[in-house]
Amino acid sequence: MTLARQRSQNLRPSELLIPTPAGLYCPLADIHIDPMRPVARALITHGHSDHARAGHGAVLATRETLAIMALRYGEGFAGERQEAVPGAVTRIGAVDFRFVPAGHVLGSAQIVVEARGLRIVVSGDYKRERDPTCAGFEPVPCDIFITEATFGLPVFRHPPAHLEVAKLLESVRLFPERTHIVGAYSLGKAQRVMALIREAGFDRPIYIHGAMDKLTDFYMSEGAQLGPIRKVIEAERKSLGGEIVICPPSAIQDLWARKFPDPVTAFASGWMRIRARARQRGVELPLIISDHADWDALQATIREVQAGEIWVTHGEADALVHWCGTVGLKAKPLHLVGYGDEGEAEPAGETDNAVTG
Ligand SMILES: [Zn+2]
Ligand SMILES: [Zn+2]
Repeated sequence: MTLARQRSQNLRPSELLIPTPAGLYCPLADIHIDPMRPVARALITHGHSDHARAGHGAVLATRETLAIMALRYGEGFAGERQEAVPGAVTRIGAVDFRFVPAGHVLGSAQIVVEARGLRIVVSGDYKRERDPTCAGFEPVPCDIFITEATFGLPVFRHPPAHLEVAKLLESVRLFPERTHIVGAYSLGKAQRVMALIREAGFDRPIYIHGAMDKLTDFYMSEGAQLGPIRKVIEAERKSLGGEIVICPPSAIQDLWARKFPDPVTAFASGWMRIRARARQRGVELPLIISDHADWDALQATIREVQAGEIWVTHGEADALVHWCGTVGLKAKPLHLVGYGDEGEAEPAGETDNAVTG
């Protein structure tokens, strides 16, 4: 492809980005991307806690991601902060960095890293399905595409999210006495589910758990159309039969959830494709709604960016690397330890409540 042909002979990919225990490191600019440990200078793709950590010397991220970090960690989350305007180039050392929408959550970005004709795209977490609460993923042709593989197995195929939301509303219609409690991660999924419920025409108040107050307010201040939102804490739980309550996934099994009238427990996650997982969590109404690319979307994206080489950060890296091989693409797992998305964490790795209180 063109980029590869133009590429300078003397810049090797490992000179532009290398995996280290602290995360992806760019030696030419002396920065890390989504580091798992405190570093001097960090570029951050999005606000989920496994990518955006507190304690870096300086952070470069989109305005929304900086605001989300301040909401979650307090204003002192980093020594300095700098806003990355989507599409604009920030030059650090001899390297150009550009943030491009990733379609994952509000403010989420891929980071395009480019020097001397070599272009690497760090996609962070991403999805291709429409999301009314954030800007859509923009494919950027590149030499090396660095991708996640959270749902990188053929079993993971996410149905259209609006059909899953229709199941929820149908259940609300069928069981007008029961409270529908929907587990959804506090950053992104919760607000996306609320926006989809509104798009489906449900206009009664939606009740939310205290752990998602601040982020939901922030989404609304950024223009998300979430309709009337009420806090559970300000309502009489016994009176919420027939209503929809959104809470962090861990709360659906808590005593907290049992104080609603005859609750129907739902969980909005890509993991709900696995029936056993829904059963294990006592989920009566699994909703397969994910903020990550599914198996088909991972493949489509890899083809679309036309990279000659694929690096896989986390998730089902082996399966995706194997698939790349079958279509003649060079690929390798990076074995980065520390990602396992908060936004779609395995039940055991859930950090949602801890992070947002
Ligand atoms: Zn994420
Ligand atoms: Zn992640």
